[in-house]
Amino acid sequence: MTTVIDGKAVAASVIETVKSATKALEAETGVRAGLAVVIVGDDPASHAYVSAKSKMAKECGFLSVQHTLPTETTQEELAALVAELNSDPSIHGILVQLPLPKHLHSESIIQSILPEKDVDGLHVVNAGKVATGDLEGGLVSCTPAGAMVFVRRTHGEDLSGLNAVVIGRSNLFGKPMSALLLAANATVTTAHSRTGDLPAVCRNADILVAAVGRPEMVKANWVKPGAMVIDVGINRVPAPERGEGKTKLVGDVAFDECAEVASVITPVPGGVGPMTIAMLMANTIIAAYRKAGRKPPKF
Ligand code: NAP
Repeated sequence: MTTVIDGKAVAASVIETVKSATKALEAETGVRAGLAVVIVGDDPASHAYVSAKSKMAKECGFLSVQHTLPTETTQEELAALVAELNSDPSIHGILVQLPLPKHLHSESIIQSILPEKDVDGLHVVNAGKVATGDLEGGLVSCTPAGAMVFVRRTHGEDLSGLNAVVIGRSNLFGKPMSALLLAANATVTTAHSRTGDLPAVCRNADILVAAVGRPEMVKANWVKPGAMVIDVGINRVPAPERGEGKTKLVGDVAFDECAEVASVITPVPGGVGPMTIAMLMANTIIAAYRKAGRKPPKF
């Protein structure tokens, strides 16, 4: 029997932990966790993401602050807002929604966020901590952190003896995911567009993670029987079967055929996707606990 991971249910359990940790921190120290979300411009998809994040932050009991800036905001104005949030003691997490309008330089904005408030885990200090295995000190990028919750709930904390293959080497996902698996003692291969005989590499994986951005690229004969398959891809493809001009979301894994071979698999949508926002909340409460000198909850 294949287990299909219910990402919404796992994300809901993470949110429950965040909610009780928020209450406990406030009761014990008087500190209320605070998350500031900054959005520049009027991209409708970014606005939808930001309102979902602000809504979830409120649900968690956080002080939730949203800064909506016009498209013509200058680099200096945005940098000044980040500096203000960096020095605001009521704010424990800062998220600048990407992509920024083209005239703004995202990298220098992201790197200007204090690492201890960088709840997206994109600052080089946080990336460096993940790369050096210092998982207690830094903040881990949300999507790989969410995928690791699935891994731990299936295999436990220690992946000794297991082979993991991550397809994709982006800074946002592939590299931190490989580092997290390695820190948990898996033997890790990071595959990418220049990897030779990718299906053979994948067939070696007890844990196969796909983060490529190519619809249904991973086929059943790439999957080792009994493997855990985590699909990070989000691809919108035409769905004429649903009516003219309709589309649907699919992952990087051909779900139906791979589910016949895997022992555990994540669906798209409803797998890794819901975990990203949940881990953003988890990072915010972790940052607030650390700031208050308390040991943060584990996720
Ligand atoms: P990315 O920066 O475009 O990286 C894609 C990676 O896939 C690259 O390392 C690339 O290799 C590799 N690749 C491309 N074609 C390949 C092929 N034919 N064979 C093997 N490897 C190949 O993408 P990303 O930001 O990591 O995101 C990957 C996917 O995950 C996207 O679909 C994205 O939407 C999704 N995603 C979802 C979430 C979420 O659920 N919240 C979050 C982040 C990303 P090279 O390095 O050699 O070019």
